[in-house]
Formats: sequence, C-alpha cells, structure tokens
Amino acid sequence: MRYVISHAKIHTDLLQKIQELSGQNVFDCYQCGNCSSGCPLVEYMDYAPNQVIRLAQLGALDELLESETIWICATCLQCSSRCPKGVDVSKVMEALRVINLRNREGRISPDDIEKMTDEEVKELPPIVLVSAFRKLSG
Ligand code: SF4
Ligand code: SF4
Repeated sequence: MRYVISHAKIHTDLLQKIQELSGQNVFDCYQCGNCSSGCPLVEYMDYAPNQVIRLAQLGALDELLESETIWICATCLQCSSRCPKGVDVSKVMEALRVINLRNREGRISPDDIEKMTDEEVKELPPIVLVSAFRKLSG
C-alpha cells in the first residue's frame, strides 16, 4: 500500500492529543526496537510497540486507533523501562485507548457499566473498565 507522508498528515490535533494525554514526545523514538523485544505480549499484537510509535510518527492514527495492540497491552511497563530515549510507550498506549473510547459511538461509560448484568461485565476486557472510569478524570 502506498502511504504518502506530509507535514499536515503528521502534525494533527489527534497526535497533539496523544502527546498531551501521554506526556510523551513520540518523535524522541529512534526505532531501536528495545520496547518490542521486551514486551511479553508482542506475539499477540497486530502492531509491535515500536510500530505503534512509528505509526504515530507517520500520522497513521486511524490504524492505531483501530489496532488490537492497544487493548492487548497489559500496562506492564516493560517497554517503558527498556527505552533508551525515555519514551514511556505504555502511556502512549493508554492515551490511544482513552481517545478510542472517547471517540466511539455507543462508547461505554461508567453509567453503562452500572446498567450491565454481572455476566456482561465479565465479558468486558478489564482495560475497558479502567479506561471507562478514567474518562471522567480528564
Ligand atoms: S525502545 Fe524507545 S527508542 Fe526504542 S523503539 Fe521503543 S520507543 Fe523507540
Ligand atoms: S506495557 Fe504493554 S506494550 Fe509495553 S511491554 Fe507491557 S504489554 Fe508490552
């Protein structure tokens, strides 16, 4: 697939939001791959952690927001502790989850969760619960 890079495509409000929510500058990453080589869940991801950062650098934000990776990440912080550039990749993952949930039609809110049955709540990935409640905090 041909992907055209442009300044306008990269420097979007959405990228600014990712950086604002995560407190990370994705352009600090030089793609050494240390984050991905230490990630215990990388084999289950559609994009490895370093690829997530690369896609953010390239402005491919739709791919990121639709990726499985952001929900598979367990926020174990292994990637963040291994980064020689001090990029906290897990915070970028969390920012992407928050943006995804905020953008979603029919997104899950704390009120929705209270209306669900115990069985329905058990079916939700734990990270959805965490992110649903975090939406209230900024
Ligand atoms: S470890 Fe840091 S510099 Fe290396 S690829 Fe991952 S985010 Fe980028
Ligand atoms: S925080 Fe997420 S991306 Fe980073 S090593 Fe852990 S599971 Fe992998």
